[in-house]
Amino acid sequence: MWFTERMVDIGRGSALGTSGASELFQLLRDGKPRTRAALSTLTGLARSTIALRVDALMELGLITPVDDAISTGGRPSSQFALNPTARLVLAADLGASHATLAITDLAGTRLGETNQPMDIGGGPEKVLGWMVESGRALLSQIDRDPKDLIAIGIGLPGPVHHATGQPINPPIMPGWDRFDVPGWVQQHLEVPVLVDNDVNIMALGERAFAWPQTEHLIFVKVATGIGAGVISGGLLQRGAQGIGGDIGHVQITRGAGTPCHCGNRGCLEAMASGPAIAGVLRQSGLDVENGQGVVALVKRGNIDAIQAIRQAGRDLGEVLTACVSLVNPSVIAIGGSMAQAGEHLIAGVREVVYTRSMPLATEHLSIVQSSAGSNAAVIGASMLAIHHALSPESIDAMAG
Ligand SMILES: [Zn+2]
Repeated sequence: MWFTERMVDIGRGSALGTSGASELFQLLRDGKPRTRAALSTLTGLARSTIALRVDALMELGLITPVDDAISTGGRPSSQFALNPTARLVLAADLGASHATLAITDLAGTRLGETNQPMDIGGGPEKVLGWMVESGRALLSQIDRDPKDLIAIGIGLPGPVHHATGQPINPPIMPGWDRFDVPGWVQQHLEVPVLVDNDVNIMALGERAFAWPQTEHLIFVKVATGIGAGVISGGLLQRGAQGIGGDIGHVQITRGAGTPCHCGNRGCLEAMASGPAIAGVLRQSGLDVENGQGVVALVKRGNIDAIQAIRQAGRDLGEVLTACVSLVNPSVIAIGGSMAQAGEHLIAGVREVVYTRSMPLATEHLSIVQSSAGSNAAVIGASMLAIHHALSPESIDAMAG
C-alpha cells in the first residue's frame, strides 16, 4: 500500500520516460480535450496504440469522451479529456487548535468541506478518528462512497518524515512522535496517505491557487512559529531530513541574547513571531496577549504595533535575503496569521530584501501576501494527494 518516495508531488508529469497509459494520461491531466489523432501526433505513437491506451484510461474512468463543439448531427464524440469527478481525494489541514477537511475532485475543486476547533494535543487516534468519521460524513453528503477515494493528503503542525508519514519530535503534538499516521488511517480508509508539515502544504496550496506557472516560490508562514516551504524547479524541496525551509531558528543581527524556546539565542522566531511581537508590546505597556492581539492593534492603527510588525518584517527580510541568494525565487508569498497585519509586515520584508539582494535576483521577484490565505493548507493537502494519485507511477500501477 505504501510507496517509495519520489518527487512526484507537484510535478506536472513528463511525457518523456513514462510508459503505457500513463504517458497519455499525463498529457490529458491539463483538462484540455484532445482527439486520438492529436494524441498520436503529440506522442509519436501509432493510432492503434493510442486507441488501446485511450480504452484503458476510459475503463479506469480517468478520462471521458467530451462533446465536440464543432461536430453536429449526433456523431459520437472523438475527443477525450480528464474526468475530474471520477475519483476524489480527502484533504486535511490539522492545525494546533483547528481542523479543516475537504473532499475535492481530481482537478482540486472542493465538493464538500467542514472545519471545527480541534486540539492537536488530543493525540493522533482522537484527531485522526475525527478525520476519518468526518471524511465519511462529507462523502455521504455529496452522495459518494469511500470507494471513490483515490488518496488522502494530511498537513500537520510539526516536522514530518514525508517518506513514512511520521511526525518527528513535534513540539506541540504530544503523543504524535513517530506515530504511523498512514498505517492508522489505512486501517479505516484503504488508500495511499500522504503526510507533510503545514508549511510545505501551504506552499503547494499557494502555488496551485495563485501561481500555477511559477517554478520557484518560497512560502513563509508567520504565526506562533516561523517556517518556509520552498518550491524550486517546480518541486517541493524537503531536504535530507524533511526540515528544509525551517528558517525560524536562523540567528538574526538584532536577536543578540534573546533566548528562544529551541535552546539557542537570537533566533528569528524569538524576535518576529506573533508571541515575540506581543511580548515586546507588553513591555511598552500595551495590553496584548498574543499574535492575534497584535494584528487587532495594527488594524486599529496603533503606531507601536505597526512599528513592531514592520520591524518583524525587516527581521524576516534579513533571513529571506539569504534564501533569495540561495534559491533565486520569483515569488515570496507571506502567509500565516501574522500576515493578516497586511502590508506593514510585507513592507518590512521588501525594504530589506530589495535593498540587500543582488539586483539580478530581485529584478523579477514579487514579495506578496498569500492569496490563498487560510485555505492554503487544505488546498495544498488536496494537491499532495492528487499529484501522488495521478503520478505516472500510480497511473501505471492502476492500468497494470
Ligand atoms: Zn530558536
